[in-house]
Order: sequence, then C-alpha cells, then structure tokens
Amino acid sequence: TVRVRFAPSPTGMFHVGGARSALQNWIYAKQHDGVFVLRIEDTDAARNRPEWTEGIISALDWIGIERGSYEGPHFQSSYAQDHTAAATRLYGEGKAYYCGCRREDVIARTGNQHTGYDGFCRDKGYGPGEGRALRFRTPDEGETVVEDLVRGKPTFENKLMEDFVIARSDGSAVFLLANVVDDMSMDITHVIRAEEHLPNTPKQQLLWEALGHTPPVWAHVPVIVNEKRQKLSKRRDKVALESYRDEGYLAAAMKNYLMLLGWAPSDDREIVPWQVIEEEYRLEDVNHASAFFDVKKLRAFNGDYIRALSVPEFIQLCTPWLSGTDTIPAPPWEPAAFDAEVFTAVAPLAQTRIAVLSEIVEYVDFFFLDEPAIDEASWAKAMKEGAADILDATVAAFERLDVWSAEPLKAALEEVGMARELKLGKTQAPVRVAVTGRSVGLPLFESIEVLGKERTLARLRAARA
Ligand code: GLU
Repeated sequence: TVRVRFAPSPTGMFHVGGARSALQNWIYAKQHDGVFVLRIEDTDAARNRPEWTEGIISALDWIGIERGSYEGPHFQSSYAQDHTAAATRLYGEGKAYYCGCRREDVIARTGNQHTGYDGFCRDKGYGPGEGRALRFRTPDEGETVVEDLVRGKPTFENKLMEDFVIARSDGSAVFLLANVVDDMSMDITHVIRAEEHLPNTPKQQLLWEALGHTPPVWAHVPVIVNEKRQKLSKRRDKVALESYRDEGYLAAAMKNYLMLLGWAPSDDREIVPWQVIEEEYRLEDVNHASAFFDVKKLRAFNGDYIRALSVPEFIQLCTPWLSGTDTIPAPPWEPAAFDAEVFTAVAPLAQTRIAVLSEIVEYVDFFFLDEPAIDEASWAKAMKEGAADILDATVAAFERLDVWSAEPLKAALEEVGMARELKLGKTQAPVRVAVTGRSVGLPLFESIEVLGKERTLARLRAARA
C-alpha cells in the first residue's frame, strides 16, 4: 500500500506552503487508497513549542485533514534511540566514520571557503570521542538517480557528494538521518515535499540503501513565491494559514487556491469542487516553475467563494466575527446590542460585497452601535459646502414619510437632490456618512429601512449638531 507522510517541524506558525504539501500528500493517499501519516519533526528542542504542534493539527483540521482520519501524529523526538541505533549500525558496518575536523581545518587544508568536506578522516580509524561527528562515506564513483514524480530522474554524481554528517558529537542524529530512519520504520513509499529538499535527496537515498531498504519514490514540488519571486518568508510575507483563517478566508477557497498553484484541472475552471481536484490532481502535471502566491487573486477568489454560499451558510460562517473567539477580536458593539433578525435581513446585501469574512464587521457595525463609528476621511469628504442644507432637507423629507421602506426613502432623497440640481450620488454622500459612518457600504436605502425611522433621524440630526 501507498503510505505517504507529512512531516512538519513545529518551529512557527503553520505556513501556507506546508498546507499545500500536506494537501498534495493527502490527495495522493486518497487516489491510491493509501495511508496519510502525520509526523511532527520536533527534534530541535530550542525552536519547538507545543502550541506550534497544536497549531499544525488544528490548521490541518481546518483544511479538511481532520484529526482521527490519518495515522499519527507521531513525534520524531520519541524515536531518538532508533536514529542513534541506525548511526551506530552504519559505523559498525564501516559505512560511516568519526571525524573531528572543524570547518576552519577543512578550509585551511583546501584553501577553499566553499568546499565540502575533504575526506581527511576517512581512513583514520577514529572511534567516537569528544568533538567527533559521524560522517557517511559517500561513493567515489557512479551516480545516484532518484525517481521523482515531478522532476523525472534527477541524477547526481557521487563524486561531487561530500561525506556528510549523520550524527553530532553528542551522538544525536541530524535531520537527514532521522528523517530517513522514520520514513523507513513508518514504511513510507512516497515522499512528497517541497523542492528545497531536493539537494538532500541523493544523500537520503544513499542512506536508505546503506540501511538495506528500497528507497521511496520522491516528488519535489516547486516552492511558492511572492510577487518579487522570492521564496515566501515569515518575515516578509503573510504566510500563516491561521492568519488567513482568522481574516475570514474560507477553507474551501484557501485549499482550492493552493492546489491551483502550478496546476489546473482539465477544463481550466478556477472554481472547482474539491472532489474534482481530488480526482484530477497529478503531481506529474505540476508546473516546474515556482508558483506565484498572489494574495490579491486569492482575495478575489475568496469573494467568489463567499458569493457561492447559500445565505444560511454565509450567516453561519460569519458567526466568529460577530462575537469574537480566542483568535478573532470581538466586534466593537455591546454583545447585547446585536440583533440576529437585523443581521439576517442585511446579510444577503453584505454577502455580495465582501471579499473576506472579517469585513462583515465594518459593513454592519452601524446597526448595532449607538452611534456610527465615523471614518474621518469619509466625513471630511462628504460634509462639504451644501451638506448641512442637504441633511436638513432630508430630515424634513424623511419625517413626512408614512411608509418607511427603501423605495419611498429613495424617492424622497431624489426630490431633495432635484430641488438643488444634484445627482443622487451627491445628495446621498452626506446622508450615508451621517447614518453609517462611512462612504462605502451596504445599499443605503435598504440599510436605512432596516435601521428604522427613529434612529435614522437621530443620526441625521446629530450630524448637524
Ligand atoms: N521537517 C522537514 C521540513 O519541515 C521535513 C522535510 C520532509 O518532508 O522530508 O522541512
């Protein structure tokens, strides 16, 4: 059976690139009736934190790789003895040797700053000891050919491969070895991961062979980059999956967008059901160029997904922003001021306008706040000459209305404008800012209808004060 694994290191927020790798593994397992294993590579004690592990697990859950539906999590730190045993075995079989050379010794001997290890200790016969690392003896001839679903058959000349370190002087295994030993003991058949690991692959394949196992099939997927074609980085770019989630990106939009980086379904549609992606996705077809993670496009994409929701689904998905959670700030209104009926009435108007769910708050806050939160720039722009006159005339016109609904409200304001030879847009501007606090938002007359006569008039008068 096919067994794949996702093997993140819990050293920070969960990266969108990690999510993409996880999904690629997940899909591969699905397509081959295989098993998906989650292995937390938590061997860097100084940089690991339990909350990062929890973050990975809950972020995976969010994108549909749900707790309980995969094998694990296994924790690499609990297999330290196996890693050391493998190192010891390679030493015992003469496939690895101890070496106490420091970097500067190698540079002094070779006169080259950038050289790899020169093999100085290869045949010295040293045993373990203070300051001695264990190095793997790489072959001097031949090639290492790796079978890679994305890359074909990358081929590496063995003589260019240095004798690399597999265990530190304290006996602990390095990433290269620990990763291989765990993959072997977890019977991993396919290693699907980011291209940045391709240079490790010939070394790891040699380790598989030296430890007497058939190496897995590899798949190294080109990484995702920002608009400057730089690898996405924690410092420069918004990369944490959690921050997209908390901003109100839909899991469905996020995961589909990630899979469409460097790949397209057969008919080139962009809004495709996950099931289609799950059936059609092929690592073999992933573009070899690095893929641009375009946040603007993702935003627009998310808006399309929001519009495709049913109204009840939309209302349901807005809930975290209407009340706040551990990671989403509470909205600016008093909890008791929230009126579910009002929200239900205006939600469809907001659904067609927002791109991320967190925006719902600024679209509806004026219904639930005593006074609208005035945006200063909108105010300055709308409350110019003539605004006072418009507001007074609007108060008078609205007071006279018997039927408080969008149509007559609009007609009343049109009349105010006509008497002043103003277009509706101009007449509307000060009214909108006085009532909602902002110059853009939901359709004005529907909003005023829902807000009610008393509150609307109070706000128009307050704007004159
Ligand atoms: N812990 C490694 C990483 O996060 C795993 C690499 C691999 O998938 O082999 O980069």
